[in-house]
Amino acid sequence: MELRHLRYFVAVAEAENVTRAAARLHVSQPALSRQIHDLEEEIGFPLLHRSAKSVRLSEAGKVFLGEARAVLQRAEAAVQAARAVAGGVRGGRALKAVIPGGSSTPVLLPEEIDIGMDFDQVGKAGSMLGSAGVVVIDDQTCMVEFALRTMSFYERESCGWCIPCREGTDWLNKSLTRFHAGFGEARDIDNMQHIAENMLGRTFCPLGDAAAMPMVAFVKKFRKEFEDHLNGKPCPFARKGVPQLTVV
Ligand code: SF4
Repeated sequence: MELRHLRYFVAVAEAENVTRAAARLHVSQPALSRQIHDLEEEIGFPLLHRSAKSVRLSEAGKVFLGEARAVLQRAEAAVQAARAVAGGVRGGRALKAVIPGGSSTPVLLPEEIDIGMDFDQVGKAGSMLGSAGVVVIDDQTCMVEFALRTMSFYERESCGWCIPCREGTDWLNKSLTRFHAGFGEARDIDNMQHIAENMLGRTFCPLGDAAAMPMVAFVKKFRKEFEDHLNGKPCPFARKGVPQLTVV
């Protein structure tokens, strides 16, 4: 069960109105209604009675509300404890992305991480728990450079036995190196995604997938950042004087 669903349900229950709750949560009304519906489907009973103007809790919803609040309180306490131990995002910067399960798992955006750290919930959010080696990325990180660093690793790790992995990691590494240096072309972006998608499920061992999955997600979720490197422009983060990652 996703924490986000519980949060939405509590907000609707407290507001007794989907429109007001949606405004408070900064989500659209249809999206909020859909999430509540998904929650009801998951638990198998109705939480709300809906009329044209308002919603009210069902009997089961009243009981569930108490449980939902308790779960959210425990989750918040866990977040506070993690912040106290880890100190939050480095340098007080904004959170840009999280990789939940090591470099082979697809990157998640800040709005996608309000979930429990288990296989089901991370999977539903579009990534994997993998090795659970969490990488937290702040807003001064260039995602093209991050993708290059990741691909440089997989290119070296590929044993070269099967073609999609051997050629794919090599082409992706070369393309990203050229792209990050400011010599990319618009078609490179789709080409890199296409190469990665064609590696998926076509290699002998999981390393091919491990290289392809993050690449697909980097392009899909940070396309604008790839586009910012086009037309002979060097990395926008380098232009702002942000120290660059070192690819060794
Ligand atoms: S997928 Fe595995 S076996 Fe195939 S080239 Fe890559 S590392 Fe070697």
